[in-house]
Amino acid sequence: MNDHARTILNDLVGMTREIGSPEADHVVLGEGNTSARIDDGSFFVKGSGESLRTIDESGFVAVDMKRALALLDSGDLQGDELRDALLAIKKDPQAPGRPSIEVLMHAVVLQAGQAEFAAHTHTTVINELLCSDRAHRFAHERIFPDQIVLCGPDSAFVPYVDPGLPLGRAVHQSIEEYDKEYGIPPKTIMLKNHGIVVVGQSRLEVEAILAMITKAARIYSGACAVGEPVGLSRQDIERIYRRSDEAYRRRKLLRE
Ligand SMILES: [Zn+2]
Repeated sequence: MNDHARTILNDLVGMTREIGSPEADHVVLGEGNTSARIDDGSFFVKGSGESLRTIDESGFVAVDMKRALALLDSGDLQGDELRDALLAIKKDPQAPGRPSIEVLMHAVVLQAGQAEFAAHTHTTVINELLCSDRAHRFAHERIFPDQIVLCGPDSAFVPYVDPGLPLGRAVHQSIEEYDKEYGIPPKTIMLKNHGIVVVGQSRLEVEAILAMITKAARIYSGACAVGEPVGLSRQDIERIYRRSDEAYRRRKLLRE
């Protein structure tokens, strides 16, 4: 492993443990997974069965980007066939470990999402909304300025589909639709009855976006408890997202 890959892996381990801390309530047991791009052709992803809270360098698997994306165009593999196919996309098929079943979703969010780091969690306060009839509204409404500044003007939304190939394909479609509408990839992708995916250019950006969208979920639920949540208008969202002092605030919030 070269120095660049080692630095990426260190950052990925740090981010993953931070997200996995029990007080953050993003995941329990072996839930959730994270990834980071190594270079144009490969990325690290959490190994199957690893816990975010306790993971170390050995818990990640290097995967070939092209082979992972090609799997999305293959037939509907299941069981042993899918397991073998996931082993075959490892950069070094002889290396230990097995990529998480969500490796295809990570290939998609890093590539189509033009990101360097990604995290997928089952954050309790977010899932309270995504498992309710307000899921769609929560995903698409923006309720306060810092949510727009950090998390973008909107979220991509994915109806419930099974993990693995179906989820990888559905997430890809949701990113393409978002890109068509906004001309940029989404920073947050809401998975109905499942969880959230957050992407960023750095470990810090992913942690910041996840913290802010988690806060937004708490506020949204609180607003539901006292009345009806009132989102900002599309014009307000657009203005706040584009304004230069908000760009300055975004950098400040990210401590860049
Ligand atoms: Zn999940």
